[in-house]
Amino acid sequence: MTERERSAGRLVLKGTILDGSGREPFSGYVTVEQDRIASVFPEEEAPAEVMSQLDSTDAQVLDFGNAYLTPGLIDIHLHGGAGADVMDGSADSLIRMLRYYLAHGTTSILATTLTAPKLDIDRALAAAFSVQQTERIGRVIQGVHLEGPFLSPKWPGAQHPQWICNPQTAWLREWTSRFPGFIRMLTLAPELEGAEEAVAYALKHNIIAACGHSDATYDQVRTAIGWGISHAVHCCNAMRPFHHREPGVVGAVLLHDELSTEINVDGYHLHPAAVELILRLKQDRVCVITDSMRAAGMTDGVYHLAGLEVHVEQGAARFADGTIAGSTIPLVQSVRNLVQMHGKSLPEAVKHATSIPAGIVKLHSKGLLKAGYDADLVVLEPEGLQVKRVMLSGDWYDPETHDFAYISRRGLL
Ligand SMILES: [Zn+2]
Repeated sequence: MTERERSAGRLVLKGTILDGSGREPFSGYVTVEQDRIASVFPEEEAPAEVMSQLDSTDAQVLDFGNAYLTPGLIDIHLHGGAGADVMDGSADSLIRMLRYYLAHGTTSILATTLTAPKLDIDRALAAAFSVQQTERIGRVIQGVHLEGPFLSPKWPGAQHPQWICNPQTAWLREWTSRFPGFIRMLTLAPELEGAEEAVAYALKHNIIAACGHSDATYDQVRTAIGWGISHAVHCCNAMRPFHHREPGVVGAVLLHDELSTEINVDGYHLHPAAVELILRLKQDRVCVITDSMRAAGMTDGVYHLAGLEVHVEQGAARFADGTIAGSTIPLVQSVRNLVQMHGKSLPEAVKHATSIPAGIVKLHSKGLLKAGYDADLVVLEPEGLQVKRVMLSGDWYDPETHDFAYISRRGLL
């Protein structure tokens, strides 16, 4: 669709709306103008102006019947997929991975780095920054989540222990000046020397400071909350666990509202009771993430994660010693799992993958189907929640041609 055609009118989508707020689904309309949502309303409240457009012969009206319209999904912790990894430091890799996730309904990500030599991180940031700036599909990248190398050697998880180090504010200074506004989240272990200075620097540059891969005591986490740490990555995974005399990182995360957190509901990372406990205690302060790696969307086999060998069997990615090494699912599967494995309602599940992560990383115009918000949306089949269509910034994405082609009423239905 050309700019001229696009400006000629509104696109009207009809379907069952799940607006991302947790509200019950309702039959209604979403209208899109350029790259924004112009209005959202229930069927019975359709304004006359839109109804007349529905009747006009050249109106661009798409009726999805009982399929769900939801906001595009937002994965704030994602390393790779489709055989590619952010740490490959290559535009081709990133584009391959973005295509896979966009086709599965993830319209926003934080490209997440891993512990590696600084030069490798430099290269990964440069590649992601350039894809974001120059490629149409780069609009999926909302920024970078630096996960490592400022982590606890006691809780490396799937991070390469050789390159773990104390927080280096000088590196952050270099990265923020080379890639202005691009780093959105910094995960570190707050008990490390240099953490307080790094957190202060991060906050001054609008970077969310997160606790993770940490051996901090409960009191150390409380101190870090005082510095401004506001998030904790993959709750319970790779952090000092709860003990009744030393509640650890897990105790601090569960107790303190200042901290938002993430859960990985791939069926391997957390016991269902742990998922239930975290959801019950954190409510709107917990989002789902995938933490997925390059084997997502690929067959079982042997893969590499930041220089370490990972065996993928039945979708479970593990090192030889059994340590879990990320997931292999797209976020839409996390939404399905919240419903099918954890008994959550669909509106709740969608909220944990849309408006909640948007709030955590301050994506103020994303995560809801609401007037003025970005026109990022997903059409889901009611049966099995399969992704039927994906729209990014007002453009329909075609997973076969990788084009952002507008599909007309005749072409679509
Ligand atoms: Zn991690």
